[in-house]
Amino acid sequence: MTTFEALGIDARLIQATDELGYVNPTAIQEQAIPVLLSGTKDFIGLAQTGTGKTAAFGLPLLHIIDAAAKYPQALVVCPTRELCLQIVKEIELFKKYMTGISVVAVYGGASIGLQIRDLKRGVQIVVATPGRLIDLIERKAINLEQIKYVVLDEADEMLNMGFQDDIEFILKNTPVRESTWLFSATMPPEIRKVSKKYMKDPKEVIVGKVNTANKSIDHQYYVTTAQHRYETLKRIIDFNPGIYGIIFTRTKIDAQEISERLTREGYDIDALHGDLTQQQRDKVMGQFRDKSLQLLIATDVAARGIDVVGITHVINYELPDDVEIYTHRSGRTGRAGNLGICISIVHAKEMYKFKQIERINNSQFNKLDIPSGKDVCRKQFFHFMDKLLSADISHGDYETYVPMLAEKFADVSKEDVLKRVAAMEFDRFLKYYENSEDLNLRERSKRDMNERGGDREMGRRRDDRSEGRGDSRKEYTRGGGYSRLFVNLGTKDGFFKASFLQFILDMSDLKKEVLGKIDMKDMTSWIEIDKGAAQQMIRSLDGKNYKGRRIRMNDADSGGPARRPRRGEG
Ligand code: AMP
Repeated sequence: MTTFEALGIDARLIQATDELGYVNPTAIQEQAIPVLLSGTKDFIGLAQTGTGKTAAFGLPLLHIIDAAAKYPQALVVCPTRELCLQIVKEIELFKKYMTGISVVAVYGGASIGLQIRDLKRGVQIVVATPGRLIDLIERKAINLEQIKYVVLDEADEMLNMGFQDDIEFILKNTPVRESTWLFSATMPPEIRKVSKKYMKDPKEVIVGKVNTANKSIDHQYYVTTAQHRYETLKRIIDFNPGIYGIIFTRTKIDAQEISERLTREGYDIDALHGDLTQQQRDKVMGQFRDKSLQLLIATDVAARGIDVVGITHVINYELPDDVEIYTHRSGRTGRAGNLGICISIVHAKEMYKFKQIERINNSQFNKLDIPSGKDVCRKQFFHFMDKLLSADISHGDYETYVPMLAEKFADVSKEDVLKRVAAMEFDRFLKYYENSEDLNLRERSKRDMNERGGDREMGRRRDDRSEGRGDSRKEYTRGGGYSRLFVNLGTKDGFFKASFLQFILDMSDLKKEVLGKIDMKDMTSWIEIDKGAAQQMIRSLDGKNYKGRRIRMNDADSGGPARRPRRGEG
């Protein structure tokens, strides 16, 4: 196995990496460092997150930077603020024994004035997000005239986030660029195009398989019905008592609502999505990072670049449309040699999409049964008992109390003490799961759904975690034809028919089968719905907020503003 010394990096850097516990270079480091040390060669490193990319470019950059020249010589561009800060933090650690080299992070959402001041101090390495960098270029607050080395980190994510023009602008505005180093987990055609246009005969290194999910990740999935998604999520969380995870949703609304719902039901969760201010975002991330928050629920865009160590589970509440997004999501776990689990909740109609993800990832995905209520209780019970047994009683004044305790418990057997402890901890749990239903989509229920429009599933009443809380979904009876509902939401609110349908179904927890025709206009829509389900939908939507606007929904045929739209109206 190679050593850092053999790769030729500066002894002061080796001293720092030693202290960080890096014994041998990772695969990407082994292949990238010698090339990058030459300083004049373009380079493409295709590697998943967590493979040690930061050191792969950070160490050679520090080695070749001219510490005596006090102007920006290297520019690292990355997709998010979190990643930006992470890179700077690591570079700071690497350069611990070097003097005269400064590195600065510039990113959106923080004071540009302070960043401009930092830049004026004569830094050599600038780590930036594309948007803020462009802003600084336009204000002439940063001079790229003498940038020799440009690193594009997580290039695929930057393109996914719509930064392609910005990246090209940056590359065009670095006239004396000698080397461009591009790191990416995947190689979509757009990246190929950028590399062809701006790089000269790059040395390409692939670590693992491109487009392959990280092998240290166990990919699992559960198949359920669309309306059992939320309950399945809860069961997964309950079945994994030590979970420290990120749940991904497709929309901001989902992230916010599921977070609120789970919080109400006693879970330790918060949401991260684009509607938060930078301050709110920092607060949530801070709590998640220091593990005072066990679960984070996020949209893809909001979670990009987040690099949190020790994530045990990634849960796809819904599958992403894009296979690459699946890779990005799952890459949040299974990092730095740890094993991670990526769980997807899939419903029957998504199976084709799932098979596609499985094929492209070229990994074995394991279908598991959604745990029963009994499974969950057993798991929680033993987790608690393990915790009880491993509790540290070495430094406390417990000995003092033992005689008194012995007296108090004189007539209670050890078994009874254990039962009492368990009862205190578990009664609520056991009650909640007492008559819990099977959430797995079985062959029979698939048939039922197809043949009977899903009403058998819908007719069942859900269990509740505790009195007065939790599930408010009610049974309804089918039949009696359609009602027509009016709602003051339309295409101007950013909805397409499919997303609108998903939105009203998610809000009301009803199934698609209850819906008839949907007529969408700019500002309003008309929804045909089974008479028996109409009130549930109205109750779930009327008066709620959507993007700060109050939703108004009522029966279109019972007067009010709802009238049948005329042709061409909207
Ligand atoms: P990265 O892919 O740069 O985000 O690195 C993932 C994690 O691996 C970070 O926590 C690094 O500190 C760690 N790491 C990077 N290189 C090595 C190495 N050669 N030996 C041990 N850990 C490493």
